[in-house]
Amino acid sequence: MGKQILVAEDESLVRMDLVLMLQDAGYEVIGEAGDGEKAIELAYQLKPDLIVMDIKMPKMNGLKASQIISKTFNIPILLLTAYSQKEFIDKAKQANIVGYLVKPVSEANLIPAVEIALNQGAKTSEYEKKIELANKKLLDRKTIEKAKGVLMTRFNLGEETAYNKMRQISMNKQMALEKVAKQILLKYGS
Ligand SMILES: [Mg+2]
Repeated sequence: MGKQILVAEDESLVRMDLVLMLQDAGYEVIGEAGDGEKAIELAYQLKPDLIVMDIKMPKMNGLKASQIISKTFNIPILLLTAYSQKEFIDKAKQANIVGYLVKPVSEANLIPAVEIALNQGAKTSEYEKKIELANKKLLDRKTIEKAKGVLMTRFNLGEETAYNKMRQISMNKQMALEKVAKQILLKYGS
């Protein structure tokens, strides 16, 4: 599946150039915005894999729009800037901004930057998934331990017997152990 990109640039001619360069390189441009507010709206609506965003745009500049998008989504953002906007770039070390390109943008510098940005975005979400999974496992283990304790107290069982009981229910009902634990806590907990 081609990577989906949102392009936010207020100068329509520049925007058209960007879109064509991206399409030529095999990317799918799923949205185009001419100002910062529209960029936010489309980012929420379309959830692209990457946003190529001009800094200087009407209604809301690209930096502010990036900040707002980053609060909700982990979409990598590649900023476009004029040379005179260097002071902005220091501020750009925040949020999901994975890089910036100085205008005028050519195919030779756009496409490699897009590739890098997409890779970084993929790595970040993979890392976040791992963290999330680790947290869930930890939480599951706590739930299971708690349910085991409840069974031990309530039915005067030894630790191993209580655990085996839960495993037995889990197998019989073909239900994950942490779900069995949750049900036990609902029924007998507190
Ligand atoms: Mg502009």
